[in-house]
Amino acid sequence: MEIQGHQLHWSHVGNERVVRCWAAHLASRQLAQSYLLIGPNDIGKATVAKNFARTLVCQRRDQPGVDWPCEQCSACRQTAAGIYPDFYEIDLLPDKKMISIEQIRQLLEKISLSSFADNYQVAIIRRAEALSDSAANALLKSLEEPNPSVIFILMTDSLSSVPGTIASRSQIFRFYPVSADLIYDYLVNEWGVNRELAKNLAQVCLGRPNLAIRFFEQPDLFTAYCQMAEVLLKLIASQSLSERLLSLQQIYPKANSTAGMAEWQLWQLWLGLARDLLLIKQGQLPLIQHWFLRERLVATAEQITWLNLLTIFTNLGAARQYLLANVQPNLVFHNLAAGN
Ligand SMILES: [Zn+2]
Repeated sequence: MEIQGHQLHWSHVGNERVVRCWAAHLASRQLAQSYLLIGPNDIGKATVAKNFARTLVCQRRDQPGVDWPCEQCSACRQTAAGIYPDFYEIDLLPDKKMISIEQIRQLLEKISLSSFADNYQVAIIRRAEALSDSAANALLKSLEEPNPSVIFILMTDSLSSVPGTIASRSQIFRFYPVSADLIYDYLVNEWGVNRELAKNLAQVCLGRPNLAIRFFEQPDLFTAYCQMAEVLLKLIASQSLSERLLSLQQIYPKANSTAGMAEWQLWQLWLGLARDLLLIKQGQLPLIQHWFLRERLVATAEQITWLNLLTIFTNLGAARQYLLANVQPNLVFHNLAAGN
């Protein structure tokens, strides 16, 4: 992609409109104080944000015809090595539910300490929906007293969970799921993935290229996912209650007291398989997520009645509400498996 004579190397796939628009901000030097990137996890928000930031601080940025970023100046070498001093990143800490005011204070302090420098400073805040009220207020104060050499980039999966006061002071960019065809081509051409695996990964990631890449780079993770999907489909297809509970035991052996990542992943997988069955019953086989399971899915879709399928969707909706209301996940999944 080319912006005003600069060839862009932002290693993104899809979401061209956002990339073009953001690069145009750089070209026109009309930068916002704060950018809010909205879109599902693994869609490439951080990849684009980091490349924007690298281009912003590239020392050769204003030279005509130079690649963006140039990859040759000292700033580019530092950003590539992850040692550029004026980039900051905040995320939810492990085992914490919120981003605390201390995290934001520390960030603002670092920014104010190095503000003597001539450089841009970029602060990336991931999972902005987890900002505590006091953390959001502290950040807001900074946005109300803008410093043109400081750029904030916030990321979230949903606009409604970010305080309106912050959103209204930010330039908002929305990232949308990327088409499976585009991800397939990207995997084959840029990552050298074989065609069959590329097809499976492009379908399974539901428009999130970074998930496809993670599965490619960590084959064990993808194998575990495939095995879990296979057992869950067996559960859905089985007529026998004891068989279904046995399958559940296999894929959900633990009993956490509240729903965490494992529980939501299981729920998502269940929904994904139900959606695949619905698509096949509607004659839309090419659109299914679990392409690697297509033969079994087709066989199951033939067996399962419309009423069965409707019940599964209704139960999944109820299960989601129960999990959100902190009902014991074990009970919720037991009910789902029992089909009542
Ligand atoms: Zn450079």
